[in-house]
Amino acid sequence: MIFTGRVRTTCAYCGVGCGIVAEVNKDQSVSISGDQEHPANFGRLCTKGTTLGETFDLTNRLLVPKVEGAPSDWDSALSTVAARFARTVAEHGPDSVAFYVSGQLLTEDYYVANKLMKGFIGSSNIDTNSRLCMASSVAGHKRAFGEDVVPGVYEDLELADLIILVGSNLAWCHPILHQRILAAREAREIKLVVIDPRETVTSQGADLHLDLNPGSDVALFNGLLRDVLLSGADDGGFLAEHVSGLSAARRTAADFDIATVAAQTGLPRDKVATFYEWFIQNPRTVTVYSQGVNQSSAGSDKVNSIINCHLATGRIGQPGTGPFSVTGQPNAMGGREVGGLANMLAAHIDFDDRLGHQAVADFWNAPRLSAKPGLKAVDMFDAIEEGRIKALWIMATNPAVSLPEADRVRRAIERCPFTVVSDIVKRTDSSRSANVLLPALGWGEKDGTVTNSERCISRQRAFREPPGQARADWWIISEVAARMGFAEAFSYQSASEVFAEYAALTSVASERPRCLDLTAFAGIDAHGYDALLPQRWPQRAVADIRESHRLFGNGGFSTADGRAKMIATPLRLPASQSSYNYPYIVNSGRIRDQWHTMTRTAEAAQLSAHYGEPFVEMHPMTAAEIGVEAGELVVVENNSGEVILRALVTDRQRPGRLFVPMHWSDEFASAGRVNKLFAANVDPVSGQPELKFSPVSARRFAAKWFGFAVTVAGWNPATTYWARMKTANGCRLELADTESIDEASALFEALLPASASVEIVSYLDTASDSYRFAAMDNGALVAALFVAPRPVVVSRTFVADALGSEVAAAAVLAGRAAGERVDDGALICSCHGIGSKTIQRAIIDGADDLAAVGACTRAGTNCGSCRPEIQQLINAVSVAEAS
Ligand code: SF4
Repeated sequence: MIFTGRVRTTCAYCGVGCGIVAEVNKDQSVSISGDQEHPANFGRLCTKGTTLGETFDLTNRLLVPKVEGAPSDWDSALSTVAARFARTVAEHGPDSVAFYVSGQLLTEDYYVANKLMKGFIGSSNIDTNSRLCMASSVAGHKRAFGEDVVPGVYEDLELADLIILVGSNLAWCHPILHQRILAAREAREIKLVVIDPRETVTSQGADLHLDLNPGSDVALFNGLLRDVLLSGADDGGFLAEHVSGLSAARRTAADFDIATVAAQTGLPRDKVATFYEWFIQNPRTVTVYSQGVNQSSAGSDKVNSIINCHLATGRIGQPGTGPFSVTGQPNAMGGREVGGLANMLAAHIDFDDRLGHQAVADFWNAPRLSAKPGLKAVDMFDAIEEGRIKALWIMATNPAVSLPEADRVRRAIERCPFTVVSDIVKRTDSSRSANVLLPALGWGEKDGTVTNSERCISRQRAFREPPGQARADWWIISEVAARMGFAEAFSYQSASEVFAEYAALTSVASERPRCLDLTAFAGIDAHGYDALLPQRWPQRAVADIRESHRLFGNGGFSTADGRAKMIATPLRLPASQSSYNYPYIVNSGRIRDQWHTMTRTAEAAQLSAHYGEPFVEMHPMTAAEIGVEAGELVVVENNSGEVILRALVTDRQRPGRLFVPMHWSDEFASAGRVNKLFAANVDPVSGQPELKFSPVSARRFAAKWFGFAVTVAGWNPATTYWARMKTANGCRLELADTESIDEASALFEALLPASASVEIVSYLDTASDSYRFAAMDNGALVAALFVAPRPVVVSRTFVADALGSEVAAAAVLAGRAAGERVDDGALICSCHGIGSKTIQRAIIDGADDLAAVGACTRAGTNCGSCRPEIQQLINAVSVAEAS
């Protein structure tokens, strides 16, 4: 059935969880707009959400099941998986198998996977890529509140007088929350403090940027707690009634006077003092934290040192207050809720909760409910490498890119005797050696629920027919379960049946109270599920009229005694610090327009224009030390591996520190998988690996030549360095090699489509080893190649846009349109394709605010994700003019 019309759904990307209206047109193209009624975004969308309609190309989709590389039917593929898992369990025990799942799964998929592994296989070896993202927040919440609960709601960001962002480049990673903050700050004074070792577009808009030493956050917050307690800014009543653990936390914090904090963090004393003063003066304070806090070998302590300050001041669960963890993935929260982490049982019930354990066993009628935690992500892949795990099922994730020591992880997957990968794409770095590939449904095709960072459950709704033989993950898992002999417990006919069962599970008895309560949905039918509006939990069967949508404002924590617990957090510096003797520290993170390992965002040509290849950002002094110039290539390495990245030289990094984006896999670049540089050092409580700190060395990549190419044809370059991105009509490539190019024309021929009518024009300057080629087919550009001994300087936007269009061959060889400057600078506005130089010219010509720049250039007038960068350009020009 071909569907046309409007569907309300939820974004596929970050944990903000924006509501989307997808309009399916008659030609089956999809127009995307923000859902005006969704409480997360009220109609706003960032570049990634806006371009979701461009990501339905089926070229790279996995459309049929495959067994040992050969197309298969579902029955054979499912039977193969079931038989092998059953046999492995029978021969080696339940802990010889594992599932590695993902925050991309919907709650219903997660629930079924968790039920099969823990309830019926009898192992807890199910862990998720949320371990890499949020596990330290989970551990911190559980230690402090007794349960993994985010107490506040997004509205608190608009009601606060002070917002503290810790380890969060919110402008790029959670753009719509950042836009909500910017809008609130335009309406009234809200102070913004950013705590981040590096300068980002987020920190550039802050009132105070604390660029502390990497990993020293605990010292800063211990010092804050000490100052709060000494100055009498604590809430004695809240502490007395609702909190325990004050004495131990106070004793630890006592060591952190301002001189010690300044020494440990590397911050000037006056900046630290200003921060403490603002915190003390502003009862309405929200502290938002993200991966910069979590991805650390001391991540749990960082989280608890932040929560300690909020508990001490009673700033929790009241309007405009609270510690606020924001999640990276669309459904990290849903996975945590159902129990998709190896150290949780189900529905916020722990393994040591004997009453709850029995209740879950009874509810599921589970014959062998696992009684102990399983292996967390890093330990799981160690066990695979060591041969202890003999059958692995990876669902909707790419651990060979995203885990630390990524090369070792890839080797472990290759060695695993039996690997299943269910995914939407044909090939990932993790699926190359899989025995069985199972085609899953993607966004727009699958049906279910997700939970965002403020506990809001929203529907993802299907509005496209399943492509090929792709099926829902919950269906795939249930079919395998049935073939393993558990048909009765996995007889679901729809996602709504799964959701209703999960909601009912939240009602079972447990020793400790739980806020997670979805019993209002326990009897939901298909119609009710279809109509489900975004709603924050708890959703009780019998509503408690005293309960607000904020939690813990009047105590009532999920601990045995109902009190929150302050945790003593001695400072532990990064575990990776002492291991090696390398001159630089590398930090990893996201960029604005890409998502995870780019399997979906790389389908949107518009998103690929922001950064076209993996890069390493460094200070000019560091570049000079390495001997590399902007635009050249750099080898970054340590004893875990090496990568080759483009040098981005800015003063945003401190000397000696490097920043690398985490998105590039071997599918998109020859050597951009940066997580191979990070050792598998984990937080001892949460098991979350340290992905923000690794010692490395760096050296110039001695390229003999550089190249830039576009082609309408597919091409797999054999050069030492390459990076490929999609364009509207083909792809663009960056190339380089340390070997001299034998014959540039031969390289160009490899780019050509098979067509008899292709005409080639060229400009060859053998004296300078510079070559330019363009191939035209009936007046349209079908390929171009630029080769030079230095990084190629052409307008990449012009050449990429010209591909597939009628254009003058001379303009292609010139590398720019007639009258166009060579380069419009870095792309700032993805929606309208506006570069930094156009914006700078408008500012110099008098456009002195965002509205004026938008009126002159259109930059920033659509989704608004680039407005912080435009503001940064406005500020830079103002400073230059004033000096
Ligand atoms: Fe999607 Fe952007 Fe909203 Fe995140 S902020 S949910 S990526 S639209």
